[in-house]
Amino acid sequence: MKRLFIFLIFTFSIALFSQTDEAVLKKIYTTSLTNGKSYDWLNHLSTQIGSRLSGSLGAERAVAYTKAELEALGLDKVWLQPVMVPRWVRGAKEYAYIETAPGKTNTVNICALGGSVATPSLGIKAHIVEVKNFEELETLGKANIEGKIVFYNRPMQADLIQTFDAYGGCVNQRYKGAVEATKYGAVAVIVRSMNLRLDDLPHTGSMAYDDIPVEKRIPAAAISTNDAEILSTMLQLDKNIKFYFKQNCKQLADVQSYNVIGEITGSQFPNEYMLVGGHLDSWDLGDGSHDDGAGVVQSMDVLRLLKESGIKPKRSIRVVLFMNEENGLRGANKYAEEAKQKGENHVFALESDAGGFTPRGFSFDCSDNNFNQILSWQTLFKPYLIHYFEKGGTGADVSPLKNKSNVVAGLRPDSQRYFDHHHASNDTFDAVNKRELELGAATMTALVYLFDKYGVKNN
Ligand SMILES: [Zn+2]
Repeated sequence: MKRLFIFLIFTFSIALFSQTDEAVLKKIYTTSLTNGKSYDWLNHLSTQIGSRLSGSLGAERAVAYTKAELEALGLDKVWLQPVMVPRWVRGAKEYAYIETAPGKTNTVNICALGGSVATPSLGIKAHIVEVKNFEELETLGKANIEGKIVFYNRPMQADLIQTFDAYGGCVNQRYKGAVEATKYGAVAVIVRSMNLRLDDLPHTGSMAYDDIPVEKRIPAAAISTNDAEILSTMLQLDKNIKFYFKQNCKQLADVQSYNVIGEITGSQFPNEYMLVGGHLDSWDLGDGSHDDGAGVVQSMDVLRLLKESGIKPKRSIRVVLFMNEENGLRGANKYAEEAKQKGENHVFALESDAGGFTPRGFSFDCSDNNFNQILSWQTLFKPYLIHYFEKGGTGADVSPLKNKSNVVAGLRPDSQRYFDHHHASNDTFDAVNKRELELGAATMTALVYLFDKYGVKNN
C-alpha cells in the first residue's frame, strides 16, 4: 500500500513536471475563459467606482478595491507604494458655440483638455483660424493669428492599419498645440478629437504648457469630429465667424496617491522580478473601461491564473497597478526609481494599455537574441490566433524599467475600435467584450509562464 502511494506520488510529480507547454497554455486559456475574474473585477471598477482621474475620489476607491481583491487572492505580498500626483478637475460642463452673426449660434460639443486652464468666467469669444499643422501656423504668422482662436483640424490618418500610428501622427496638436499657438498670440486653441470615427463625442487627453508662466496660459479644448467638420465647412463659407467657449477646469495642489502592488515570490530566483501591469487612473469622461481598466484587471488575473493553473513560478511575479499614467506618469517613474534604488532586477515587464479588445500579440523592446527566443514560442500561440510578435514601442508605464539586458513588452490587441472610445464618455463597461478581455489575460499569462520557465536569455 505504502509502495503504491509512493509510486502514485512519483508518477503525479512526473506528470506535472513533464506537462508540455501546449498543455499548460491550454490550461491557462481554459481557466481564463471558464473561470476568469477579469470581467467581474472590471464590472466593479467601471460601474461601481467609475472614472479614476489622479487625485479623485474614484482613484482613491480604486486603490482600496484592487488592494483588497489582490489580498483575497492569497498572494505572498500586497502593498501600496505612495506617490504624489497632480490633481486637475474639470468643474462644470463646458459650453461652446459657433456664431455666424450676432445672436445666430450653433452649439458644438467640446471638452477641456487635461491640464488646461479655464476660460475667463464669462467665456472667450474670438475669430477662429483653422490649421492642419504647426508649419501652417508659422506661415500664417502673428499677423493672422494674434487675438484669435487656433483650430487644429488634422484628422487621424484612416489608411494606417495600426491606429496607434494614426494617433501618433496627430497627437502633437493636442499636446503641444497651446504652446505653439501662444507663440503667435492666439487666445485659445480648439483641437479636433483624436477619433477615427465621425461622431459627437469630444475626446480629452493631456496637454502641456512647458515653461509658459501661469498668467500667460491659454485655454485648450477638444471638439468632436462631427463638429470639427461643421466648423471647418462654416469657416470655408465665411472667415468672419466667431467661436465661443467656456470651461471651468482647475489645477489643484498635488495629493498623495498610490501604486498598488502584489507579488508571488519566486521559488528559485526570488530576486528576479517579472512584472505585469496597467494603469489604475483614467480620464474623467467615461469610466476608463478600456483605458485602462482592462489592463488593470488582466494584469491582476495573470497572477490568479498562474495560481489556478497550478504553476509555481521560479521568479517573483509582480502585478503593478500604476497611478497617474494619463497626466503625469508619476506612478511609473516612482516605481522605476525605487526599483533602481533597491537594486531590484526586473528581467521582464509586460504592460496592457491598448484596450480590452481581441489580443493579437505583443510588441517587444529587447535584443535580437531575446527576440529570437520569443519567436521560437510563436507556434504555441497559434491555436489562440495570436500571431503578432514585433519589435517596437511597448508602454508608457513599463518603459522606465527598460535596461540593456531585460525584455519589456506590450500586449497588442486589435486596435480598430480603440480610438472610438479612447478618453471619451463612451469608454464604458458595455464597450468591453468578456471573451476578448479574458483572451487578453490568458495571452499575458502564457507569455509570463514561458519567460519564467525558460528565463530571459543573456545577450
Ligand atoms: Zn492608457
